[in-house]
Amino acid sequence: MRIGVMGGSFDPIHYGHLVAASEAAHRFDLARVIFCPTGQAWHKSTDRRAPAEVRYLMTVVATAADPRFDVSRVDIDRPGPTYTVDTLRDLRDERADAGLPAAEWFFITGADALAEILGWRDPEKVVEAAQLVGVTRPGHVLADPGLPQARVSLLEVPALAISSTDVRRRVAEGAPISYLVPDGVAHLIAKHGLYRT
Ligand code: NAP
Repeated sequence: MRIGVMGGSFDPIHYGHLVAASEAAHRFDLARVIFCPTGQAWHKSTDRRAPAEVRYLMTVVATAADPRFDVSRVDIDRPGPTYTVDTLRDLRDERADAGLPAAEWFFITGADALAEILGWRDPEKVVEAAQLVGVTRPGHVLADPGLPQARVSLLEVPALAISSTDVRRRVAEGAPISYLVPDGVAHLIAKHGLYRT
């Protein structure tokens, strides 16, 4: 069984993420895609960022209608910074504990974020644990071209013209976010007063 792991802050989750996961599932014949919202935001400033539990909730709401999509709390519940090597180990252990057969893993994230992962903790273990899929909008140039080619694929997704940064900026400016994020996500942003200046 081939399983995708969609790693990201999802602050907030938007249609670009959902299209990217769907494209990756199609391209790599993935039976499931597990969205893993990151835990503590250790490598970026936390102002105007949504709390982990609200990012988790937005991800659950956004993915609820698609039977291929699940959401995991592994990164939210693990104390300390989120490292991809831990994400992949915890998901593999959960599957083994449930008595399910071993799976082939595909870690999907933004192409720029992927370049960073390989510069951080245990990159060789990450590459060993999963095939890496960097999703990017067409024409985007990679920040780090030195990725190991055999284990890394790039997938161009036009819908990734949408970005979380732009959605947060639009909310702060009072601009509409309809059709950029699912309605349920827009409702949660309004309900929790997220991203306002
Ligand atoms: P980020 O720095 O917030 O995002 C960098 C770029 O990638 C942004 O343009 C972002 O767009 C895009 N992106 C992020 N996740 C995406 C996704 N799933 N699909 C499409 N585009 C995506 O990166 P991050 O969200 O914090 O981290 C991404 C993943 O890499 C997480 O799973 C994180 O745990 C992992 N990571 C691990 C390490 C490590 O192990 N040391 C280091 C860095 C990152 P949007 O803002 O629109 O999403």
